[in-house]
Amino acid sequence: MTKRIIVSNSEVSDFMKCERLWYYKYFKELTPIGNTSEALAYGNYGHDWLYRYYRTLASGANTVMAMAEANNVLRELQKSRDMSSEFLVHLMTIMVMYVTNHPYQNMKIIGVEQKEKTILYHDTIHDTEVYLGIKYDLLLQGTEGKQADKFILVDHKFKYSFISPEASAMNAQLPKYIYVLRQNGYNVETAMFNQLRYRKMDDDNPKNQRFHRLSITPTDNEISEAINDHITVASRIIDLRETSHDVGKIVTRSRDYRDCENCPFFSICLAQAKGKQTEALRTVQAFFRVGGNKYIDDYKELLND
Ligand code: SF4
Repeated sequence: MTKRIIVSNSEVSDFMKCERLWYYKYFKELTPIGNTSEALAYGNYGHDWLYRYYRTLASGANTVMAMAEANNVLRELQKSRDMSSEFLVHLMTIMVMYVTNHPYQNMKIIGVEQKEKTILYHDTIHDTEVYLGIKYDLLLQGTEGKQADKFILVDHKFKYSFISPEASAMNAQLPKYIYVLRQNGYNVETAMFNQLRYRKMDDDNPKNQRFHRLSITPTDNEISEAINDHITVASRIIDLRETSHDVGKIVTRSRDYRDCENCPFFSICLAQAKGKQTEALRTVQAFFRVGGNKYIDDYKELLND
């Protein structure tokens, strides 16, 4: 029977950064217990806050009701005592400042954290249909003026420093997302990184900028290049999954300090690189669980749609 598999942009991006990172995260499905970094905590809870805010707005509520609903994310965190009160107050301040000062003008909400997929190719060697799956943050449609009826894709990024326009032009994520949405009937031309800086700074200082929306309008050529690269890497991932009996012995380590210093699998990887298998196993048992990565699970769910 023909198999179906989703290969997401994040999986390809992680594989290109370090095959061994891909192996721990997507093949062994190891998930760190708790937040591994401040950046991840702002990203995770900030996204949850914005999800509830825009979902409530989309249901017809006003901004005050949407903010109250979104703040429940922080109340739940406070109860679970997962994060310090300083973190919670700082995050709430950023979120309220953001939605108060940066509403989307003349736009209606089409979707909030929706999953979409499209088939990329049929791998005849492994009899597998390969799909690109996405979960976008926000899809808007213009209601007036030049933007009337146009779709705009929004991707929230919680950043310490803003992404430069040059770097964003090389990023493959948004062109791939645009491709999937177009295949599914949304003629998106423009997408944006909606950046929120989480670092502590004086917001009253006019030199400081807390929020910045960086738009890109990729050409058809840029989109097809991004998809072609994705297919090349996806086919290597599928070969590894389908034909290798001992994937852990084949995958390479990047061993580049820029990748390794923030890698959630650093301690396992280092122990294994030193041949200390028992120490690696103890680390896995103490600090990781198998499965439960909501992003990976989301893509698996897409196959049931
Ligand atoms: S620590 Fe470095 S080499 Fe090891 S998995 Fe992470 S990024 Fe790869």
